[in-house]
Amino acid sequence: MQTGDQELVKKINKSIVLQTIQASSPISRAQISKDSGLNKATVSGLVNELMEEQFVQEIGTGLSSGGRKPVMLYFNKKAGYAIGIDLGVNYILAVLTDLQGEVIEKIEEPLENTSLDVVLPMLKNVVQSLMDRKPFSAYGVVGIGIGVPGITDKNGRILFAPNLNWEQVNLKQELEENFQLPVVIENEAKAGAHGENIHGAGKSSRNFVYISMGIGIGTGIIINNQLYKGANGIAGEMGHFTIDANGKKCRCGNKGCWELYSSESALLEQAKSLPSLQEREISLDMLIQEAENGNTEVIPLFHRIGEYAGIGLTNVINTFNPEQIIIGNRLSKLQNWLINPIHHVLEQRLLPYYYQDLSITFSQFGIESCALGSAAFSVEAFFAENKVTVS
Ligand SMILES: [Zn+2]
Repeated sequence: MQTGDQELVKKINKSIVLQTIQASSPISRAQISKDSGLNKATVSGLVNELMEEQFVQEIGTGLSSGGRKPVMLYFNKKAGYAIGIDLGVNYILAVLTDLQGEVIEKIEEPLENTSLDVVLPMLKNVVQSLMDRKPFSAYGVVGIGIGVPGITDKNGRILFAPNLNWEQVNLKQELEENFQLPVVIENEAKAGAHGENIHGAGKSSRNFVYISMGIGIGTGIIINNQLYKGANGIAGEMGHFTIDANGKKCRCGNKGCWELYSSESALLEQAKSLPSLQEREISLDMLIQEAENGNTEVIPLFHRIGEYAGIGLTNVINTFNPEQIIIGNRLSKLQNWLINPIHHVLEQRLLPYYYQDLSITFSQFGIESCALGSAAFSVEAFFAENKVTVS
């Protein structure tokens, strides 16, 4: 074997050892050897390196079937931190997480103007505040992940974000230069799907579609536990499939797009014409308050949004036959009003073969799925980088 090959094998083995510890800690060296098929001496050497690098620590002793009790190893999730940001159209939500996705700090700010000149300094401020609050650790902040409401290319350039009115924006480069940290940019619904897949409601499904119902609608598709990105990384723009051939004109160029009927924008727009809300400042939280107080105009409006959600979902379900649909982002706050109209429409419009084993759930994180998924992308990029650059 050539030296280069040996190094590569070692990197791969080290990555296997670390992944085994991440997935199954506390775990003994002997068990890692058993689970991974690597011999004990190899495992022991790689564990020592991982301990020196502070990714792995030893704790107490584990159970043994007799003889000397093995020392247990666990993944040191506090060896570093990641920043995950959901750049919504009307808010910025940012989290600082440890290497296993636990939220340590959180900042949420309303976004009243989406011009880049306003958003960029805000993003920098938010990142800086989280950096200032990070606990001491071996690696500090390992990267920044940002979920954006638009399509991005493989290099993290934002190609088109209709609801922000952005085209061809290189946020990644801008922030990398500013903070000297790696930045991952991904579509917000893909980030949300990833967050749900590894930490949330999607943990137990291998095939699900995450529906981000915010100012627009985006979707993230998980097939066999992997995020499906499509040939150019832009799969999942289902908010722009047509549900009314002669419907309203959309900023994407199409007519009658799903998101024009079942998003926060659609909701706020329709709420303006309700007689009981005339001359009042309309917001999502205000509408929820009205519905809770029994407003007989707002409740049917919520139901209508739910019916249109169901109409779009029939297309998603007919296409993917998922085990689960997870609804996230801001309209997940309307769960109690949306769920029955959605089920009603699906029962009416779907073949029972699709419907019988399908579960419709709402995000466990409320609106945090995207920020968590974005932080997770950064952590993964950090490990991918580290595991192939070890000595
Ligand atoms: Zn559209």
